[in-house]
Amino acid sequence: MKAIYVDNNATTRVAPEVVEAMTPYFSDMYGNPSSMHAFGRSVGSKLKAAREQVADLLGARPDEILFTSCGTESDSTAIYAALHATPEKRHIITTRVEHPAVKNLGEHLAKNGYRVTFVPVDRQGRLDLDYLYDHLADDTAIVSVMWANNETGTIFPVEEIARNVRERGIVFHTDAVQTVGKIPVNMADSAIDMLSISGHKLHAPKGIGVLYLRKGTKFAPFLMGGHQEGGRRAGTENTPSIIGMGRAAQLVMDAMEDENTRVKALRDKLERELLKRVPASMVNGDPDNRLPNTTSIAFEYIEGEAILLLMDQHGICASSGSACTSGSLEPSHVLRAMGVPFTAAHGSIRFSLSIYNTEEEIDFSMMKSISSSVL
Ligand code: PLP
Repeated sequence: MKAIYVDNNATTRVAPEVVEAMTPYFSDMYGNPSSMHAFGRSVGSKLKAAREQVADLLGARPDEILFTSCGTESDSTAIYAALHATPEKRHIITTRVEHPAVKNLGEHLAKNGYRVTFVPVDRQGRLDLDYLYDHLADDTAIVSVMWANNETGTIFPVEEIARNVRERGIVFHTDAVQTVGKIPVNMADSAIDMLSISGHKLHAPKGIGVLYLRKGTKFAPFLMGGHQEGGRRAGTENTPSIIGMGRAAQLVMDAMEDENTRVKALRDKLERELLKRVPASMVNGDPDNRLPNTTSIAFEYIEGEAILLLMDQHGICASSGSACTSGSLEPSHVLRAMGVPFTAAHGSIRFSLSIYNTEEEIDFSMMKSISSSVL
């Protein structure tokens, strides 16, 4: 049975063009990019090209691109960098709906001598911006707000927040792991200081990430050792994956229009038909400011896991808005923060599409999720 994959916010298929670009760097082209000899230098020049490709995608300068091991590492590096650069500042602002990569770090820091403000959201998942601005303080070291939410796809006004935060002389970081590749971003005319990306969300492999670091931003390295990445992230580079990331950056730029027209139309069709045919169903999140590929639908009074299992029997891969915490089924912290009723949060399913999805797949997923929800 062929899988119908509508779980692209969890991870994406590595593009065949990316595999092709990477393959020689596992075999013949195994040199160390820092070596003096021509064999190593040829890998080094490919690394340089990949950095330029990622910089192009972001509207950034190549020396503002740091390769890391994943989105989580980029988030941790950004937040720790700001804290280490200004050790006298002990306050952090983030939101109640961040991915665990930021949320759990925030909770950890709160237990270890930092003051952490978690900004609430409304029923649509929109940030309480007044709350955020009211909590900016003289000792705020960093504000970290995700660009788009991984569960609902809600897009936050990070550019506006970054401008306001900059006026107070505070560093602004955004977790753009779900954003880059889906909607255009341009760091050239932005007030964002640091931005995190993950390769496996944009058709590059798992285990490669990027931290965009605006030139002039105070920085302290998270990993220390060799001089790789301009001394900002030590460790021999993951050359095949970096080269794959560069190729993926080119591909997502080319596919941006398809993502925002055809893929968005498929998402809208899936959502429209499900809402029309399944009683007591509703969309979680802000319907106006949303990623083009994501919909989170609450099927009230139905157990989300049951829907997922039934869909799984037909090869449909989606995910639940719930996470299994210590053996008990807890609704997701995102839906809880939005005040989604327990009965709806438990029955929430996230569908996240990609450029590889076809209309036939979406029609099939729609039929099967409808029959799984109303049985
Ligand atoms: N941030 C967001 C918004 C995500 O969706 C994810 C992955 O799901 C991450 C961070 C973590 O990325 P990685 O898996 O590369 O560590």
